[in-house]
Amino acid sequence: MELDARIPAGPLEKKWDLHRFEMKLVNPANKRKHGVIVVGSGLAGASAAASLGELGYRVQCHCFQDSPRRAHSIAAQGGINAAKNYQNDGDSIDRLFYDTIKGGDFRAREANVYRLAQVSVNIIDQCVAQGVPFAREYGGLLANRSFGGAQVSRTFYARGQTGQQLLLGAYQALERQIAAGTVTMYPRSEMLDLVVVDGRARGIITRDLVSGIIETHLADAVVLATGGYGNVFYLSTNAKGCNVTATFRAWKRGAAFGNPCFTQIHPTCIPVSGDYQSKLTLMSESLRNDGRVWVPKAPRDPRAPGDIPESERDYYLERKYPSFGNLSPRDIASRAAKEVCDEGRGVGETGLGVYLDFADAIGRLGESAIRERYGNLFEMYERITGENPYRVPMRIFPAVHYTMGGLWVDYNLMSTLPGLFVLGEANFSDHGANRLGASALMQGLADGYFIIPYTLGDYLATARPAPVDPFHPDVRATEAKVRGRITRLLGINGTRTVDDFHRALGRTMWQHCGMERNAAGLNRALQEIPALRREFLEDVRVVGTGEELNQSLEKAGRVADFLEFAELMCRDALHRAESCGGHFRTEHQTRDGEAQRDDEHFAYVAAWEYAGEGLEPVLHKEKLVFENVHLATRSYK
Ligand SMILES: Cc1cc2nc3c(=O)[nH]c(=O)nc-3n(C[C@H](O)[C@H](O)[C@H](O)COP(=O)(O)OP(=O)(O)OC[C@H]3O[C@@H](n4cnc5c(N)ncnc54)[C@H](O)[C@@H]3O)c2cc1C
Repeated sequence: MELDARIPAGPLEKKWDLHRFEMKLVNPANKRKHGVIVVGSGLAGASAAASLGELGYRVQCHCFQDSPRRAHSIAAQGGINAAKNYQNDGDSIDRLFYDTIKGGDFRAREANVYRLAQVSVNIIDQCVAQGVPFAREYGGLLANRSFGGAQVSRTFYARGQTGQQLLLGAYQALERQIAAGTVTMYPRSEMLDLVVVDGRARGIITRDLVSGIIETHLADAVVLATGGYGNVFYLSTNAKGCNVTATFRAWKRGAAFGNPCFTQIHPTCIPVSGDYQSKLTLMSESLRNDGRVWVPKAPRDPRAPGDIPESERDYYLERKYPSFGNLSPRDIASRAAKEVCDEGRGVGETGLGVYLDFADAIGRLGESAIRERYGNLFEMYERITGENPYRVPMRIFPAVHYTMGGLWVDYNLMSTLPGLFVLGEANFSDHGANRLGASALMQGLADGYFIIPYTLGDYLATARPAPVDPFHPDVRATEAKVRGRITRLLGINGTRTVDDFHRALGRTMWQHCGMERNAAGLNRALQEIPALRREFLEDVRVVGTGEELNQSLEKAGRVADFLEFAELMCRDALHRAESCGGHFRTEHQTRDGEAQRDDEHFAYVAAWEYAGEGLEPVLHKEKLVFENVHLATRSYK
């Protein structure tokens, strides 16, 4: 396998412009001759499908929800970054670029990140033109707030529902193309394998989730925008349906997987409340604009927060990181929360919580200003916990939230399989070892609205894919494999539920490949996971049949993939004997407990190649070259 990132020559700030000029075009009349499959209708997929439809390609868009607008992107709360510098507070494309590279702990590719910062300004214009109701200042200009890892305010938002509003914009653009006949929508259609013919991605095999019918769809290129895999941990802030199936099965067909162990743990989630909980809830990072994080100075302090005087509180983020304070990046804020809880200073019944306190902000700005900014988040918190955060501090704790890892892509967002493009959270591209808040929406929309429309055309004009025969042996074999997998799952007829296995996997992953990792724990996980997988294949109980709506079967397929994929994550975490961003190896930390990178040995993207059933995957390395930023120890102090 060859890893060629295809980074264009030229100065950083000119690369994308020069590349756009050099790329080949498909003439308008020829575009409708090309079929393109987009899997996913979140921000990345919907924006891509709408843009490609508008250009004139024949597009199919698949999603497993009943409507494209129910994609997980709808859950995004806090906002979307862009280097507009509306605040006149020192922001610029260069600064967004630098913040993102530094925030990712110098494990992302410079050229991609610079392009992301450049394109960020176009996204806001596009969304405003679509009517996305971003918050505005009194004078009518778009408002901004701050997110972690930045000292400027560059986050555009629509209260705590930014993802929903952006997705409505993309969804309307998509619906317009559906009505115009350029996009055919396939809701309730789950991709279960990738069709590869003559070394190129040529289609997908799907299961209609209502009728159970297995179908083959062929095209000239396939675009995966299938989101992240945080649910491998069972408990996460992701929607319950988020999974790894599409990217994992593409991996098995030859697409390299980049940095699978890079997971983001978000510091501000509602703490776990019991053994049978199936989902965690995020409290947006935007709350850290006004909320102050603290714990009692004394361990196991039994007093209610209101009874603890100022002098006996530890505002530990402000104390440890005075420059960034409560807006320290997520990886750092998460570990700091764990540290104080490990010292016995955590709050709440389990001791696994810290306070996020709005008393100061309410005193300074008034309750109505806070309600205006975060009203829906406060309401959500109160509904879940029964506590009123206008009166008592919120209790929060870190939880799995986002996966920086994903299928490896080159500058054109094409995987190592020609014809297979990967967008949004599903690719590994822009966030290195730690994503900064409000940058996922930016990346998904940059990929879908502004990058794939160019790079896909270049591929089609260059490769000129010939029609593929639906009876080609590789097509038929892939479909047969999908059917075989379903029959096998339904035939096990064991005693344990799919959720039971998923929960057990989540426990292993959180314990050994979660917020902290070390060689001993990872080696243990690498023993536990295959054993659990064997038990699953002998004892899982999947009820119902394949010819109907069957959520037990859907879950079983996804958990079966998680059970294999988890091993790849642990292998990746084990091989990376350094700490960087969200990947914190306890053996590699500074004296004051900060991540200790090893640039000499690990300044690369780990891209794993599938080697075959039962064989160890092969590691390839894309060396990261830093020509424009200086590799430095990350400091937010
Ligand atoms: C609670 C929460 C809040 C967040 N808030 C923010 C925020 O404020 N700002 C920010 O920048 N980021 C935020 N994020 C992160 C951000 O929401 C996601 O990274 C982003 O929305 C992912 O978009 P996507 O288009 O890549 O994938 P998704 O929105 O997850 O969409 C995936 C799509 O793929 C489809 N799909 C998946 N697998 C298959 C399959 N096998 N077959 C067919 N279809 C499939 C799904 O149906 C869906 O349509 C938040 C995340 C969470 C969990």
